[in-house]
Amino acid sequence: MKPHLIILGAPGSGKGTQAAKLIEKGYKHISTGDLLRSEIAKGTELGQKVSGIISRGDLVDDNTVMALLKANCDVDKVSYIFDGFPRNIAQAEMLEAELLQGRKTLAVYFNIDLGVLTDRVVNRRTCSNCGEIYNLTTKAPRVPNVCDKCGAQNTLTQRKDDTVEVVSNRLKIFADTVDPMLAFYKAKGALVEIDASLPEKTVFSALEKIIG
Ligand SMILES: [Zn+2]
Repeated sequence: MKPHLIILGAPGSGKGTQAAKLIEKGYKHISTGDLLRSEIAKGTELGQKVSGIISRGDLVDDNTVMALLKANCDVDKVSYIFDGFPRNIAQAEMLEAELLQGRKTLAVYFNIDLGVLTDRVVNRRTCSNCGEIYNLTTKAPRVPNVCDKCGAQNTLTQRKDDTVEVVSNRLKIFADTVDPMLAFYKAKGALVEIDASLPEKTVFSALEKIIG
């Protein structure tokens, strides 16, 4: 069985794209948002509790998320990718203590230079017609201002929060919360770093080597 993976990386580091590719390698992607929705749909006791919390406008607490993970993850049979959870050191400790419990797990950190990442994010453009994503420096449309996919003109737009100021602030908050998690997994000998500034294919090859 392949190790469980905990994917850690700043917004824009490309971890989502890579996690999606790992599904083809037999991994199951765990999204706590999806789990919450499906548990509510199943109408279980836990689902009803979650539904109550959400309808009151409250955030679902860590203990409830853990209960949800325990009810839905068969960690001895399926290799999971945890992406977006754990989000902080308290959740990382809880996940280990209550679910993974010493099972082979690797925390993969998508390490990327702050400047490179800021560049990547501020050059991101999305076609407002079909949703195709471009990057003006690394993946520009073949004809300027024309979407490769749907052919629409002048539809490539920048997200309002993809500015240098917003991105820098987002990254600072990320660094403050990820550092204790990196220390936690490093102390367990479970931390692997990947150079996320490399091209998508190179990053995926590195990932394939890591999971074996
Ligand atoms: Zn388009």
